[in-house]
Amino acid sequence: MTRIRKKVLEKVTSSENPITADEIYRSLYKHANLATIYRALNWLEDAGYITSIAFGSGPRYFFPKARHYHFLICEVCGKIQAVKECHLASSKADLEEHYGFIVLDHVLYFKGICKDCKKVRR
Ligand SMILES: [Zn+2]
Ligand SMILES: [Zn+2]
Repeated sequence: MTRIRKKVLEKVTSSENPITADEIYRSLYKHANLATIYRALNWLEDAGYITSIAFGSGPRYFFPKARHYHFLICEVCGKIQAVKECHLASSKADLEEHYGFIVLDHVLYFKGICKDCKKVRR
């Protein structure tokens, strides 16, 4: 693994929330340009270290493959919040029983109005 890939992986791993390429670039701009960071992220994703998700035309968010998040997407300001808690273990068992389907993973996001935008609306 090259030095820059290692640095990018460290960023993704140490970030408490999923992180965008732009955010990584902001802290690594002395070491690499944005294109290099994208290449490193693609490599890390292909190699199975990290995974990513994008919503509509928004940026792609990267996080370690071992972590699992749900997402809250604000329809007003576009902010994306990651939720660490997952309560879907029982649904998984139900799906497996009802459909005979082996569930390996799931992606879940909620659309709505964030705390800040809710305040403005009042
Ligand atoms: Zn909002
Ligand atoms: Zn979940």
